[in-house]
Amino acid sequence: MARFLPTIKRKWSVKVTFECPSWPPDWPEIGQAVESVLQSGEWGQYHSETCKQLEKRLAQHFKTPIARLCCSGTAALEIALRTQQIGPGDEVILAAYDYPGNFRTVELVGARPVLVDVSPKNASLDPNLLEAAASPLVRAVIVTHLYGQPAEIEAIRLICDQHDWLLIEDACQAMGMTIASQPAGSFGDLATLSFGGSKLISAGCGGALLTKS
Ligand SMILES: *Cc1c(COP(=O)(O)O)cnc(C)c1O
Repeated sequence: MARFLPTIKRKWSVKVTFECPSWPPDWPEIGQAVESVLQSGEWGQYHSETCKQLEKRLAQHFKTPIARLCCSGTAALEIALRTQQIGPGDEVILAAYDYPGNFRTVELVGARPVLVDVSPKNASLDPNLLEAAASPLVRAVIVTHLYGQPAEIEAIRLICDQHDWLLIEDACQAMGMTIASQPAGSFGDLATLSFGGSKLISAGCGGALLTKS
């Protein structure tokens, strides 16, 4: 997908330069796929062949060794934080304006959200302000490509590497986007995807966690 750079006309007003497909999409193959998993009984299984195939295709697309499905994008972030044993006494940096569930999930695991303002160029964390939030307690930085706008993820990746902070990339609103020829979601040590209602690829509900280890 081409990198989509919108014209910012005024604060938070974005000129959409493409036509959105109709909803629900009029693609017979979607109906056929749904019918086939209903008939095979895979519809109600946790570890179906279809799920395995989806994990494999996600891993390929995002150039990551491991993709795991879970029940939501929010659950993916919770699993990401828990697998890294981030909890009480730890700080996690996020943009001050972000998907609300991200703040709540940091609090859920007992860590402290530390907020950094967004960049005037997009609705994502401003890399120029990131180091001002540094402290010995910081363990991770969560960066969201909000509204399908690319965050300045390469600059943020460099700063995270310098400080030995984990980078958790929220690509829930950017599935299919590329940044410098790399898929959004492939820059983080961990990344989250959502298949919830209103997402670019929706199953009504669902999510995935991408990880390099
Ligand atoms: C939707 C969304 C989530 C969470 O996904 P759910 O599957 O609804 O839990 C996280 N981050 C962003 C940016 C989202 O848009």
